[in-house]
Amino acid sequence: MNWDEGSTPATHPGDRVVSGAADGDDQAVEAALRPKDLGEFVGQERVREQLDLVLRAARGRGATADHVLLSGAPGLGKTTLSMIIAAEMGAPIRITSGPAIQHAGDLAAILSSLTEGEVLFLDEIHRMSRPAEEMLYMAMEDFRVDVVVGKGPGATAIPLELPPFTLVGATTRAGLLPPPLRDRFGFTGHMEFYSPDELQRVINRSARLLDVDIAADGAAEIAGRSRGTPRIANRLLRRVRDYAQVKADGVITGQVAAQALEVYEVDGRGLDRLDRAVLTALLKLFGGGPVGLSTLAVAVGEERETVEEVAEPFLVREGLLARTPRGRVATPAAWSHLGMVPPQQVTGGSGQRGLFEG
Ligand code: ADP
Repeated sequence: MNWDEGSTPATHPGDRVVSGAADGDDQAVEAALRPKDLGEFVGQERVREQLDLVLRAARGRGATADHVLLSGAPGLGKTTLSMIIAAEMGAPIRITSGPAIQHAGDLAAILSSLTEGEVLFLDEIHRMSRPAEEMLYMAMEDFRVDVVVGKGPGATAIPLELPPFTLVGATTRAGLLPPPLRDRFGFTGHMEFYSPDELQRVINRSARLLDVDIAADGAAEIAGRSRGTPRIANRLLRRVRDYAQVKADGVITGQVAAQALEVYEVDGRGLDRLDRAVLTALLKLFGGGPVGLSTLAVAVGEERETVEEVAEPFLVREGLLARTPRGRVATPAAWSHLGMVPPQQVTGGSGQRGLFEG
């Protein structure tokens, strides 16, 4: 299959089958696939072990668990873990997100309706408005908020006692949080990308739940293309299941998975059409770089932000592209991944290799 020449780059990042963010289709299926307790939750050994201690200790004391901050890329299991925390504490859970809380009043309304021990999951906590954030400080520390009634000089702050609750905050980058907020969490868990073995376990588990027949090499093939992310693994599994049903006998073997994912333009390493367009332009048009981000974006017909925020993080993480002060540069691995030879090697010079050594 020809991956590069003449292909139109993906234009809508949200449509990507390899996006870590949830789409509408995911949300319906994800509820069924979410592990229900810590024992079922695959991988993240350290976070799981530490969280297990935090929850057991709280249960032993008959107290509400400490506030928990979970950081990590989309699709790594932060929402799932927050639900597990609630389940393990035998508590109800309320789910909201930073962007949904624009006014302190929005937050006050949520906080004042919590029941004792309830878990409040606040996704994208770094995107909350400043006044809401300040209200949260006090609520987390003293289980109290000041509700301002009236306007101007006549405004008065009425203190409102809250029942003890557990806040589970999720963020893609803990570094984005102001230190006063970060410090109010009793426990911070950093979610890592999953190894292919762990993803294979996620896929096998999901296949069981979805009643899909999958061979070991089928699960391995999907795992290798899932970019370290369970949400992507589950999504690719569903796409491959469709293919297996229509084009094969319904059984997902390694070969069936590979053929299916070629149709969806996800290559052996999990790169999709956009990723490959960026790398191909970098290699073919700019000899591997360095080239400026804007120039590269124009060459692939995408917005600068799309290249920078959607394609590059994975390419950098995979060691295929480097961001240098002089511009974007392809690594030797990028050349070999696309089956091309760097020009320096053709002429025998060491060329840009120096950029990656030492
Ligand atoms: P996040 O909140 O970090 O974006 P989610 O918790 O919504 O991610 O997880 C996305 C999907 O991936 C869920 O449907 C869940 O089934 C699956 N998933 C995530 N982490 C795990 C895991 N450790 N084990 C099994 N499935 C997982």
